[in-house]
Order: sequence, then C-alpha cells, then structure tokens
Amino acid sequence: MSKQKQKGVTRETLKFVFKTAWKERPSVFLVYFMRFIAEFADKMQNAIMAKFIIDELVLIITSGEISQHLTNAAVYAGIYIGVQLLTSVLRNLADQLESVHAEWFSEHIDIQLADHTMQMDFEHTEDPEALDALQKAQEGMSWYSGGIVGVLGAVFKLVNNAAALLGVSVIILFTCPWLLPVQVAALVVITIFNAKNNRIDQESFLKLAKSNRVFGYVYYQLADFRLGKDIRLYDSAKMMGDKAKMYSDEQVGIWRDTAKKQRKNSWVMDAANALRDGISYFYIGFLAVTKAITIGDFSMCVSAAGTLYWSLYGIVSGVQEINQKCAYAHRYIEFMRFPAAMEKGTKPVRQGEHTIEFRHVSFRYPRSEKLVLRDINLTINSGEHLSIVGLNGAGKTTFIKLLCRLYDVTEGEILVDGVNIREYSDEEYRKLFAVVFQDFQLFAFSLRENIAFGGQADDAELERVLKLAGLWEDAQKLPQGLDTMLYKSFDENGTDLSGGQRQKTAIARALYKNAPVVILDEPTAALDPVAEYEIYRQFNTLVGGKTAVYISHRLSSCKFCDRIVVFAEDTIKENGTHDELVALDGGIYAKMFAEQAKYYVGCSE
Ligand code: ADP
Repeated sequence: MSKQKQKGVTRETLKFVFKTAWKERPSVFLVYFMRFIAEFADKMQNAIMAKFIIDELVLIITSGEISQHLTNAAVYAGIYIGVQLLTSVLRNLADQLESVHAEWFSEHIDIQLADHTMQMDFEHTEDPEALDALQKAQEGMSWYSGGIVGVLGAVFKLVNNAAALLGVSVIILFTCPWLLPVQVAALVVITIFNAKNNRIDQESFLKLAKSNRVFGYVYYQLADFRLGKDIRLYDSAKMMGDKAKMYSDEQVGIWRDTAKKQRKNSWVMDAANALRDGISYFYIGFLAVTKAITIGDFSMCVSAAGTLYWSLYGIVSGVQEINQKCAYAHRYIEFMRFPAAMEKGTKPVRQGEHTIEFRHVSFRYPRSEKLVLRDINLTINSGEHLSIVGLNGAGKTTFIKLLCRLYDVTEGEILVDGVNIREYSDEEYRKLFAVVFQDFQLFAFSLRENIAFGGQADDAELERVLKLAGLWEDAQKLPQGLDTMLYKSFDENGTDLSGGQRQKTAIARALYKNAPVVILDEPTAALDPVAEYEIYRQFNTLVGGKTAVYISHRLSSCKFCDRIVVFAEDTIKENGTHDELVALDGGIYAKMFAEQAKYYVGCSE
C-alpha cells in the first residue's frame, strides 16, 4: 500500500472508529481516561520516588541524622505504596471495563455485518470476490485489529506514551542530557526493522484470508450434522479431511514462511537494544562515579532512560500498530460499501393483474464467458399456469432467477405490466413472487416461524396453507404442533422433518406469502408418488387464480398447466399446450413424453 493511500485508510478508519464509539457507547472513553491517569502516575513515580528514597537512605548512612532521614524515607515509601495501590486498582478496573466494551462492540459489528450481508445483491452471495471481502471484513474487524476497542486502545496507548515521554524527557534534560541521543539512535534502527516485519505480517494476512475461507468451509461441512448422511454414505469424510489438512498445511506453511522472513530483522533489533543498554549504563555510571549526580539520580536516570526508550518505542510502534490495525479494520468499511451489483429503481408495482414479458433476453453469469440463455421471448399472462421443462442445465432455474431479478439480464429486457423490471423498487417487486427453489432452506426455528417468518402469524391462514400443502395432519402430530422447533441445533426436542415434509413446508411458506405469482422449481422432487399426485391434483386449488410457473422433470405434471415451454440449447425451442406439443412430429417434448410414458403406463394419472 502506498504511503498516501495508507494515510487515507488510517484517517478514514479512525474517523469511523471514533464516531461509532462516541455514538454507540461513549463510556468507553472514560475507560481510557482511567488508564491514562494510572499509567502516567505509575511511570512518573517509578522514576522520581525511587530517587528520593535512595537519597534519604544514603543520607542515613552518611550524614548521621538518622531519625530525620528515616522519617523522610518512610513518608516517601508510604506515598510510593499508596500510589502503586491506587494505580493498580484503576488499571484493573479499566481492563475489566475494556473487555465488557470490547464484547459489546464486537456484537454490534457482527450485527451490522449480518444486516449488510442480508441486504447485499444476491449475485454477490455467489461471487467469490464478495465472499472473500466478507471474510476479510470479519477477520479484519475482529482478531486482527481487535475491532473498535482494539483500534481505540492503540490510539490511547500512543497518547499515554507521549505523555510519559514528555515527563521523563524533562527529568533527563536536567540530570543526564546525553541519554537522549543514545535512546533515539537505537530507536531509529529498531523502527526500521520493525516496519519490515509489519509489512511481512500484512502480506501473510492477505495470503491467509482465502485459505482460511476454504478451510473454514470444509470444517464447517464436517461438523454440520445435517450433512452426516451424505458424508458417511459417500465416504466423503476422508476427502473432506484431506482437503482440510491440505489447507491447514498451507496455513502452517504461510506462518512458517512469515516467521523465517522476520527472524533476521528481530536479531538486528535485539543487538541494537543490547548496545543501547550498555552505552546508557556506562554514561550514567560515569556521572555517578564522578559525583556529577547522586546515587538517587543514578537510579532515576536508569529508570527514566528505560521509560524514555519504551515510550519512544511505544510511539513509533504505536503509529505502526495504528496503521496496521486500521488497515485490517478498513476491510470492514470496504465491505460495508461493496458496490451494489444492480441499479435499483423506485417505481411501485401497480395492484391487480400482471403480465410478464421476456423480450430478446440473453444472459451470462458474471465472470463467465458462456451465454446460459439466448434470445428468450416469452409472455406470461395474468393467471396463466405455465410449465417449463428441459434437461438439467438447460437454464430453467436461471430463467426464474432473472424473473425474480436476483440477476440482471445481459441483453434484452424483462417487462412486468409493460415496465422494465429495473425501474421497480426492489422491495415492491419481490412482493410479486412466492418461490420454492430446488435448494430452498429451512431454518432452525419453529415450524410456524419457518412458514410465516415473524410478525403476527394468522392461525387460520396457516391451517389453510398447511392443509393445501398436505402437511396439516403431520404438523398436528409434532410434539409442540406448529411451535415445534426444526432441527436439534438449539432445542433437543427439535424435530428432523422428512424430505417430503420439508418440501411441503417450503410449499406452505410460498402459499402463505400470498403473492400474485407462484413459482415452483421442481416442487415434487422429494415427495412420494401419492403426495406428488396430491400436489398435481390440487394444483389449481393450490395456486388458485394466481399466475404460476412450474418447473418439473415429470412431464405428466405439465398436463395440469395451460401451456408448456421447452428449454433446450440455451433457448426456448417449443411453446404450446400439452396436446399441441405431443402432436409435434419429431418434437423434443413429444420425445421426452413418450420416453417417460413408458414408466407410467397404467398409473392412475
Ligand atoms: P436448470 O435449472 O435447467 O437445471 P440452471 O439454470 O441451474 O439449469 O443452469 C444453467 C447453466 O448455468 C448451467 O450450465 C449451470 O452450470 C450454469 N450456472 C448455474 N448457476 C451458475 C452460477 N451461479 N454461476 C455460473 N454458472 C451457473
């Protein structure tokens, strides 16, 4: 990072950190004020009080006025102990309060990150760059920088060191002035080599971020009990374990490489330190032996020299530490303003019936060269039940993602009620659709929450949709009915639904949303034949007069729809009713239907 850029990053991060702290929890500043008082008093008295006590002790031995000097020494010792006690109480209190604040700010940041992630454009959730940025933001704002409190702590440590430096510089100037250049020279050498080590640290952080994400994913999968069956039956534990080990070895390699690169620099710093100590002691010892200073002054100079060096070191390394922590924490700021993938409109969606029209739509996924959909032209009228069929990978789900505006089209346009969907407000537009994706997710909440998603659930409506989806009777048998928790993650009495029940839950959720357009992407894949038949039979009741788009591999289900479109070779190859398509000579649908019919001969449908 260039110096100029680093400055900008540090300035922006500090502004963010101070603003957030002041707005959210200003009491954190009181913590640092307490620590400032404790640190300053401690350092000053370490240098000064020892001098007074030692000088009195020497006078007891040399002057003969024992009682007077004994009293003085006792008073100084009393002050010393008193201040020590007070500073340690203050410091402990500050430490405790600081960890409470650190915890609070860490949760605050986690919530902000989660909020932002949920609001990000969908395509970022499939974008490795965005996922990397999220990982860097999480790590950068937690353990790498210590978060808000980590950065604030570093700034106030700098302030404390500056105050101590000022205090001991006055002492040294009046007692042993040549100590100053010795300390400064040693420091210059140490600073240069310390900066080199910091740069090495930063480089390894960047290398580690990607490796950490993949490593974390593999370990998470291994620990996720829901994947237990797949992992055991496909014997993938070894493969996962090997992968985890590979990334773990990679990380150890990065750490080892970092330590190796830093070792030589650390040796130079150690040597500079030893030289500094030697010269300082020789100089102050010389002053004491020649009686230029008292024995108490000798002790004070030794202590002040130590404080001077460490405060100077604290300031220089403190600036580096602040820059470094800010660079890490800045990844959070960067993630929070990750550019939106799509332009957002503001138009409201009008009430009533809706017509959907795809006009010359082509699409390729970001970072991909290949068009997945090519010149799609299709109108879906209000209330129409449309079935989409096609082989795996034909682009059916992608078509749905485009319709829901999870991605923007690459070419052409999608119109709803004659308006390009880019012009609609996102929030309004999404209200139009209730979708059951193939890879729908249920959460470790109650069944009720999984269907109604918070708010005041309408019991009568819940019953209606559960009955429609064929889940009502099963739900009644659950230990706590609709309030039974799904999965056992947070409740040992939680239940694991069967694949069919999970799919019915997802269908009930879509129906409960009561949106004008219902989209079911292979809704029957996990259902048994009876349940599947029930869904078909009730299809018209299920979706009522709503517009419905229905993706299925089982062509027999398409009969229930008004119209069928066939996706093949990235585009729509056939479009018509079941009877029309079956009659097409050499047609794709006719061929697929004949193939499948072989297996269904004699079935009740
Ligand atoms: P279908 O639903 O018909 O099985 P999809 O719409 O899921 O097909 O996929 C169509 C094509 O797009 C496939 O070749 C698939 O590999 C590709 N694809 C799907 N999702 C992504 C993605 N997020 N990034 C890149 N390519 C994708």
